Amino acid sequence: VKRISIIFASVALALVAAAWVALRFDAIDLALYHRLALAAATAPNPALADKNELSLLICGSGSPLPDRARAAACSVVAAGKDLYVVDAGGGSVRNLLDWHTPLADVRGIFITHFHSDHIEELGELRLQTWVAGRKAPLKVYGPPGIEDVVAGFNQAYAHDAVYRTAHHGAAMLPPDVVPMVAVVVPMDASGKTIALQANGLTVSAIKVKHDPVTPSYGYRFDFHGRSITLSGDTAPSDNLAKWAKGSDVLVHEGLAPDLVAMIGEGLSRADRPRFAKIMRDIPGYHTSPVEAARIANRAGVKLLLFSHIIPPLPNSMVERAFLHGVSDVRPDGVMLGRDGTLVRLPAGSDQIEVTTIE
Ligand SMILES: [Zn+2]
Ligand SMILES: [Zn+2]
Repeated sequence: VKRISIIFASVALALVAAAWVALRFDAIDLALYHRLALAAATAPNPALADKNELSLLICGSGSPLPDRARAAACSVVAAGKDLYVVDAGGGSVRNLLDWHTPLADVRGIFITHFHSDHIEELGELRLQTWVAGRKAPLKVYGPPGIEDVVAGFNQAYAHDAVYRTAHHGAAMLPPDVVPMVAVVVPMDASGKTIALQANGLTVSAIKVKHDPVTPSYGYRFDFHGRSITLSGDTAPSDNLAKWAKGSDVLVHEGLAPDLVAMIGEGLSRADRPRFAKIMRDIPGYHTSPVEAARIANRAGVKLLLFSHIIPPLPNSMVERAFLHGVSDVRPDGVMLGRDGTLVRLPAGSDQIEVTTIE
């Protein structure tokens, strides 16, 4: 009888303990969330680059083909404290917010061309740089036509801005600062135009080949003896190889034609002829990884960094397939860019430091 009552008491105690834990679940959940919230709210990244240092952060390494691991086209170039964003593809602004990028320091945006995957988050950049404390209207540089694109985004986001000023107050969100201002960069007959000179930084627009999208630009950033060139979207471009000469880093787009052909074949078999046709059409105005390697060699750059990668590369096997043949042309100085790839080019050295922000 004694043993039975001990068992009974133990079971009863266990039931009471389980009931107590169940009742406390809310409190435990909240306590865990409290710790998470404190940990997540870390201070903004103070700077992507030191004084006089040039750096590059890939905020979108993908393309219009849906890829959960890669946002669409976006790079940030930091020249000391000043940040410049090149293209504003879908998902890229969420990346920047996730990484606590100091968006109040964005001094300008450079748009390579007006395909949707390069402009779709211009409105978000307008909003998030303003919320972060940007002090002046945001300049958006691009080929002729940029004025239409910027006017459209300003109009589309006008109501949103009014609500936010009404809600948070004009001291925090002054309405005179929010608009974006288009800066048209006309192309010189030489195939290169200086788009901006500020605080020791020179940004040049380079004409590239993305017909029927004309004009289409790449951009070159020069700062304290270091240099980064970004291809934008382009078929193999002699003009890009010419004007990228001497850059430390060439960020180049890449489309693997054999992989894209396989996707097209699958779409044809699945009776999706419209998408199959797109797969047949796109290789003509992009550059294969092997061709990009040849361009990088001709330009004499130290690092070729692939971004705007087509198609999506879900694992390391497909990454190898994407780079197939590249090492024959260019054995060293090639990397696949990812969302979060950070390349630092310290001033007064020829070092290239590559890390990844998670
Ligand atoms: Zn394009
Ligand atoms: Zn594109």
